[in-house]
Amino acid sequence: MHGLLSVVIPAYNEEQMIETAASTIGAVLRGADIPHELIFVDDGSTDRTWRRLCGAAQRDTCVRGVHFSRNFGKEAAIMAGLAQARGDCCAVIDCDLQHPPETLLEMYALWQQGYEVIEGRKNSRGEESAAHTWAAKWFYALISRATGFDMSSASDFKLLDRKAVDVLRNMRERNAFFRALSSWIGFKTTSVSFDVRERAAGQSKWSTRALVKYAVSNISSFSTAPMQLITGLGVLMLALSVVLGGIAVAQKCMGQALEGFTTVILIQLFSSSIIMISLGIIGYYIARIYDEIKGRPRYIIADTCGDEP
Ligand code: UDP
Ligand code: MG
Repeated sequence: MHGLLSVVIPAYNEEQMIETAASTIGAVLRGADIPHELIFVDDGSTDRTWRRLCGAAQRDTCVRGVHFSRNFGKEAAIMAGLAQARGDCCAVIDCDLQHPPETLLEMYALWQQGYEVIEGRKNSRGEESAAHTWAAKWFYALISRATGFDMSSASDFKLLDRKAVDVLRNMRERNAFFRALSSWIGFKTTSVSFDVRERAAGQSKWSTRALVKYAVSNISSFSTAPMQLITGLGVLMLALSVVLGGIAVAQKCMGQALEGFTTVILIQLFSSSIIMISLGIIGYYIARIYDEIKGRPRYIIADTCGDEP
């Protein structure tokens, strides 16, 4: 069975990479006689990515492009690509060729064997700073706990069967975390490992701030543990206040009042900070509910190019 493979490629400010990515991935798939389409999603780039993309689509009928009205983030770009895909299976791969295109052949072969979700797992994380590696380790430990899947070497490099794609597309969640959702949906799953390559050109789009925001938002979309933490803290403080209160009353009965204005100030400051942090956490979840309930679209498509659907 030689089903059509749709390759979804999110691209944000990747003007140097569009043509290379299109020709490299195209050549690999043509070499293995796999019918394919390449769907580039230009995530509101501010450079010449879109122009390059239209050029590539004119030269190669396998290439299609979608242009967002502004930057909506990689997750939105993946979802838009999956929505455009017409293939019997869809793969998601980075535009910077850090995910080796040759692995697509391995994934496709597994799909032909009947697997429905084929996950790419990173053998190594490539070149990163020590702080980044450490933060990533923490993030993956937390998110693995939150989702109940081992996410430590998960990546967005995946191949999904049409069934899995349709399930993902029909999820109404606005704040989808593709990497974890693809495990969450189940199906007949397997994985292939790959080595993260050096970025071929351009630079990583992630600032530390963006990564922290990404981590917090993804953990909270899979877990309410932070709210349970508040309950835990409350119980702990109650226990503490019973003990302290007991001591205070006992001392009062013995005729010596608990001395120390300092103690009062310390307890005041401590408990009010805990209360404020707790309100913040609850507020964050409420904000997320508000976001979901507004039901705004995940992305806005400004333009498309290539073979129209
Ligand atoms: N990307 C995107 N929208 C964004 C940020 C990134 O579509 O807001 C794309 C980017 O063009 C690339 C992929 O997501 O194809 C991975 O991004 P990057 O290489 O910057 O991340 P890293 O590999 O450093 O995790
Ligand atoms: Mg990259």
